[in-house]
Amino acid sequence: MALWLFRGLRKGVVTTRYPAVTDPWARGLPTPPAFDERLLSRALADRLVEICPSRALAREDDCLVLDVGACTACGRCISQSAGAARPSRLFELAATGREQLLKRIAIGSGEIVA
Ligand code: SF4
Repeated sequence: MALWLFRGLRKGVVTTRYPAVTDPWARGLPTPPAFDERLLSRALADRLVEICPSRALAREDDCLVLDVGACTACGRCISQSAGAARPSRLFELAATGREQLLKRIAIGSGEIVA
């Protein structure tokens, strides 16, 4: 850090470039879930909505709506989804509009797995 700081001060650089490649450490970071719509049922979606502590999940008819802006990547829905959700490994989530952070996942006809 100190080396970076002094180099920046000497060269007058106040920002750093966006990394060209993903930092290997980022692979272990928690990320919002990605859902497999084939394995989702209404009952499972309702259960996931219930357990989400940040209210990032909602069900609208046959869609599970994930608010990526509210998701804290706690992983609770992933552990309770019986394989219907996995970490997305996506952390570049910046958007220019709030609506872009709402992901609508069509619910398939799969049966809930307890
Ligand atoms: S990872 Fe946590 S906060 Fe994000 S949708 Fe799942 S339960 Fe909610």
